[in-house]
Amino acid sequence: MPYLTPPSELAGLFPDEEPYRAKQLYQWLYRKPALDPSSMTDLPPSMREALGEHLWPFNVEVEQTADGGSTIKWLFRAPDGAAIEAVLMGYSERTTLCISSQVGCALACSFCATGQFGFERHLQAGEIVAQVAYARAYLRDVGLAVGPNHLTNIVFMGMGEPLANFDRVREATRRIVEDMEMSPRRLTVSTVGLVPGMLRLAEEPWPVNLAVSLHAADDELRNTLVPINRRYPLADVEAAAANYFERKGRRVSIEWTLIDSVNDTIEQATKLSRIAHRLGAHVNVIPLNATPLSKDQPSRRSRIQAFVGHLRSFDVNVTVRDTRGSDIDAACGQLRASQAALPEIRVRNS
Ligand code: SAH
Repeated sequence: MPYLTPPSELAGLFPDEEPYRAKQLYQWLYRKPALDPSSMTDLPPSMREALGEHLWPFNVEVEQTADGGSTIKWLFRAPDGAAIEAVLMGYSERTTLCISSQVGCALACSFCATGQFGFERHLQAGEIVAQVAYARAYLRDVGLAVGPNHLTNIVFMGMGEPLANFDRVREATRRIVEDMEMSPRRLTVSTVGLVPGMLRLAEEPWPVNLAVSLHAADDELRNTLVPINRRYPLADVEAAAANYFERKGRRVSIEWTLIDSVNDTIEQATKLSRIAHRLGAHVNVIPLNATPLSKDQPSRRSRIQAFVGHLRSFDVNVTVRDTRGSDIDAACGQLRASQAALPEIRVRNS
């Protein structure tokens, strides 16, 4: 499973081959990924055969398309049984991949399906990078119905808290930027607000985007939605976000999952607008995807409009994120949660 080997150590996987073979393999893994080793025609048959079923560090257990072929969702299964989700979304101007950093999550945000299942394990750097490579290979070999046919953006908004798996996410970022040659400005790390990780990220060399999942604009409410807020309260999260902007020159964005009658009030919008102003932050409003273990419901359209309208009246930049893939449970850890009941699945190499 070559993606689990650091790129500089690939030669060690094929000790009987000439050193230039490792360079060729490197090209196939990081520069022009392919779904199937049989298309790596400049490699000797022995190497292609050895790669055979072992190219990817997971099986593709579920592959599902939605939104007229512009969204595709994968459930990858690692040999130890770990489920890894990734979602690829094509838009007219960009093709964005949403990747996972952990299997499960320990942070237990009340409305999040991943959190409801608890923490299983960290993903290795190679398992994170392989999600990106797989999507790039898919775009090259198959393609999406909508959007550029190459990956333009990556967001750490799948399963897990990337800053709780800092070192591996850091190494994955290094490989994505240096080996896969993607711009760090096209990569977004989304965090629940782990202050030490945010401060560390500000010292890393890459100007990646930082998104902070706020969901509430005072500690009283945030404590109920995001339990880690008791350890890292809002003021500290805001200070760490301000520090990131200062160090990196990248404005942070604020994510706000809108929950009916919980955080969609005018009072919260008013408080949020103050934080957004202080940070110069853009706000992404995500209508809640209802999850099996919570009674929370998405805000009704009129309440979404009122919330967003109120923010705009304070000159806050707001985008309401579309709910791509919600009909196939692509949103937010729901794939694994509802996997038993998926319609029309297509299963490959598993
Ligand atoms: N742990 C990271 C990244 C993973 S989740 C973080 O918290 O940012 C990516 C985004 O989806 C977060 O803003 C998260 O709060 C949001 N999210 C989680 N569950 C959701 C749900 N059921 N509906 C809508 N958004 C959700």
